[in-house]
Amino acid sequence: MRTYETFRKEREAGRRRCVEELEHFLQQIQSQQHLNAFITVADPEQLRQQAEQADERFERGTARPLEGLIVAVKDNISTQGIRTTCASKILENFVPVYDATAVQRLKTAGAIVIGKTNLDEFAMGSSNENSAFGAVRNPHNEAYVPGGSSGGSAVAVAAEMCHVALGSDTGGSVRQPAAFCGVIGLKPTYGRISRFGLVAFASSLDQIGILAASLNDTAAVLDVISGYDPHDSTSAPLEPTATFPVESRMPARVAVLDEQALAQCEEQVRQRYAAIVEQLQRAGVQCTPVAFPASDALVATYYIIATAEASSNLARYDGIRYGLRAEGEDIITATRSAGFGMEVKRRIMLGTYVLSSGYYDAYYRKALKARRFFAEWYEKIFADNDLFLLPTSPVPPFRLGERLQDPIAMYLADLFTISANLAAIPAINLPAGTTADRLPIGIQLQVPKFQEKVLFQYARWLLQQFADVDAA
Ligand code: GLN
Repeated sequence: MRTYETFRKEREAGRRRCVEELEHFLQQIQSQQHLNAFITVADPEQLRQQAEQADERFERGTARPLEGLIVAVKDNISTQGIRTTCASKILENFVPVYDATAVQRLKTAGAIVIGKTNLDEFAMGSSNENSAFGAVRNPHNEAYVPGGSSGGSAVAVAAEMCHVALGSDTGGSVRQPAAFCGVIGLKPTYGRISRFGLVAFASSLDQIGILAASLNDTAAVLDVISGYDPHDSTSAPLEPTATFPVESRMPARVAVLDEQALAQCEEQVRQRYAAIVEQLQRAGVQCTPVAFPASDALVATYYIIATAEASSNLARYDGIRYGLRAEGEDIITATRSAGFGMEVKRRIMLGTYVLSSGYYDAYYRKALKARRFFAEWYEKIFADNDLFLLPTSPVPPFRLGERLQDPIAMYLADLFTISANLAAIPAINLPAGTTADRLPIGIQLQVPKFQEKVLFQYARWLLQQFADVDAA
């Protein structure tokens, strides 16, 4: 993997050029097309011009904060003039007329958008198999899934097709593919990054996130794209973060999973987690086991709220205003039947059901209450701890097709990521070793709202410890 930070130092020293860096990434995309990480690659000639202009700025001494950073953007984030499909037939030929705020801020800082990455249709999934453009493959072993829904973004970083990538995280879609592909994946606090231009899945949970090869690159991008945006009424009225460069800080008190919660993890994930906790204790950290909410309560709460909001958000694809229009007596039904894939249809039906009169109180209202309960549960944890450490996924990467026939098994893979979205707190995945088959395993750090700066610092310290876990 290549970091922007290293490239920038080399570029400033005159040893590397943006045009060469771009060619390298284009070449990587070309030679690894079978991974299916991209839905659309930007026009190479335009990209070359942009890279030349970036080189000129370096030479003139007018380089901007992210000059020449090559970024891949998940295809549910709006890019002016580049089609944005959400990996759905219903938006197959949709070309937006504006950039998402995050994209626009990246461009203003000098970044170059190399293309749009594959995802589960409308970001619904955990394996990147629900794409109308075909499944994405894990670069560590092509028989395995890369995780989802930001699978294309995770692969683009892991297989060296860009410096960094944007994803979106509604219930783990940045952190879980980051874990499966062995890269860093940040889901910031809800409201930290504007959602303007992010195609809505579940608006009260959605957040744009960052996938990268290093903490410093993640931090540098967050500092550029965060901050209040008048176009998004849910964006927090705060200045952009100032998290770069990331220093190391040792947490004093860390909440860890208790035995019962750990029992829900696959053996290799459990062992890796236990080894890391042991290492923290040796380093002098006070680790306190906490009980994790029952999986049926947590996963049910998430899937009720997420599907309810999705059924409402997706009502706009009616074949009339934009996107696909199918022929038929009833345009709306014909368009939605032809345009949406299986999983999206399942979610619209589930969501419509839990919102319908008679079931609203039994399901939706109850889920909102449970959501408040989980937020309070976190408050108690953070009253006594600096940080909550947990696996990113209870299972390592699984084989393509393995969970497709069993949606419940697929949903359960989100066990450890969805609570951060329900509680609106920031969380990050760090690569933390591999299975016996050399497939990546991730670990997750969570802190209270708006504490991204210290989250990065603990992450830096933890990454230093992992080397010791391997040595032990
Ligand atoms: N896997 C979860 C789902 O399918 C999360 C998806 C996401 O974060 N976008 O809903």
